[in-house]
Amino acid sequence: MRKFSDKELLVATHNNGKLEEISNLLEAYDVKVIGAAQMNLDEPDETETSFVENARIKAHAAAQATGLPALADDSGIEIDALGGEPGVYTANWAETDSGRDFKMAMTKTHARLVASGVSEPWSARFCCTLVLAWPDKHDEVFPGYIEGHIVWPMRGSEGHGYDPIFQPIDYTQTFGEMDRWEKNKISHRADAFAKLVKGCFD
Ligand code: IMP
Repeated sequence: MRKFSDKELLVATHNNGKLEEISNLLEAYDVKVIGAAQMNLDEPDETETSFVENARIKAHAAAQATGLPALADDSGIEIDALGGEPGVYTANWAETDSGRDFKMAMTKTHARLVASGVSEPWSARFCCTLVLAWPDKHDEVFPGYIEGHIVWPMRGSEGHGYDPIFQPIDYTQTFGEMDRWEKNKISHRADAFAKLVKGCFD
């Protein structure tokens, strides 16, 4: 495992929430976190069929474009009764002509589950894969998960995306009902970040 020994880390995201989360996480380490927007980086197309390959595309494109080590993530939800769908297409399921509509995506998910004929409980997991890539093309990969079930109807208005229909194992609330801090402690992203810090920063 390669340790991070540079002074600057490029975070290959245009999402300010993600940037802030990563900056907070790395506060204890001597590293300056820079966002993709600050460097005028384009977002490459996610053309692959796995979280790791899509995260690799983003991390390597950013590292090559800037000459800095770059961190990227790709995430989504896998539902067993749907053969792992929507998976890498999680965001695509919410796409409409006027932007993303997650209520529509959750309704579609439920309709597909009913049509699958598989009875509840519907096991599922949120996945987040982080890739740290260096300009010499070396990379380290950190997959994170949280296991749970798809529930219906939607519950809660916290969080984002598919949170109102995902209930983690051993919890009675959905991610949509859970306090943000509590979710951030146990989420797929927290799992991947913990592995990244242990692997490359500690
Ligand atoms: P991407 O990682 O930016 O490609 O987006 C993946 C999609 O997965 C997002 O648009 C969300 O719909 C969904 N997603 C990822 N993480 C979460 C989460 O923590 N809660 C709810 N939805 C999520």
